[in-house]
Amino acid sequence: MAPGDSSRFFRPETKCCTFLPALPNFLVGAVLDEPDPASASGRASVEQRIDALLGATPVGLLQPPAYARRYAGGKEFFGRDPSMRCPHFLAEGGRCGIWRHRESTCATWFCKHVRGALGRTFWAALHGLLAAAETGLARFCVMEEDVGREALLHAVATQGERAVPATRRVLWGRWAGREREYYRRCGARVASLSWDRIERICGVPLSIRVRLAREAYGDLVSRREFGPLKVGAFDVRPLDRDRSRVWAYSPFDPLDVPRSLLGVLREFDGRPTREVLAAIRRRHGLALGRGLVRKLADFGILERG
Ligand code: SF4
Repeated sequence: MAPGDSSRFFRPETKCCTFLPALPNFLVGAVLDEPDPASASGRASVEQRIDALLGATPVGLLQPPAYARRYAGGKEFFGRDPSMRCPHFLAEGGRCGIWRHRESTCATWFCKHVRGALGRTFWAALHGLLAAAETGLARFCVMEEDVGREALLHAVATQGERAVPATRRVLWGRWAGREREYYRRCGARVASLSWDRIERICGVPLSIRVRLAREAYGDLVSRREFGPLKVGAFDVRPLDRDRSRVWAYSPFDPLDVPRSLLGVLREFDGRPTREVLAAIRRRHGLALGRGLVRKLADFGILERG
């Protein structure tokens, strides 16, 4: 794929929603009980997933194995193939039908980031935090709603977001045939929990993620001085006589930079940055501000040593 090729853009009829989210049980319940009339289409799309019994388990609505295999098979479809489009995507208006109750991947994935790679690292850490809470709370609900021994065994065997095949009776125990009611109870149960209680339920795996997210946020808002920098790896394509488009940390988040600037980047060779900036001023007559240098580093065009 050539840099800047139009295939890097999402199609309007899919946007980036070529993804089937695994919805934890309590979020399924929250969607089912959402009172806003504008959420009717989103709710109907969740009801269809439940009624089809494809990936509907006490843990939540998971990816059916066939979808999971296709998703893992390559990413060329991403943002482009309508056959992989999320069932909760509303074609009319191109919106998410379950936006208020979307899960952790959908809540934290962006194609562009404030502060580039640093921003992406923060959102990935927040994703880890939310995903740990989702996993812990979904299992908590399975326990509290007394799904029975077979269903508990299945819940433990469920691998990540993928459904493990089992009969409806085995999967659902006493809730077989009353799946919507089960999800609603999970939604109401989790809605009543305080954050302190959630941390106690989810334990150390969540505590670790909370600390990592805090530290990533600290990095994101920090303006501390950077150490030595080296020119990073990137794709580049001329835009016009004066500017080029550069992709470094992500194929979706390029920077447009003056070509004169690209020509001096080789000066960043790991020497102290102050020394490099002085050399660029002396040899090339360019005065690079620290804000610009920080931006090049944030976007991965320069790499921190
Ligand atoms: S749940 Fe919403 S945000 Fe997530 S993929 Fe589906 S339509 Fe997109």
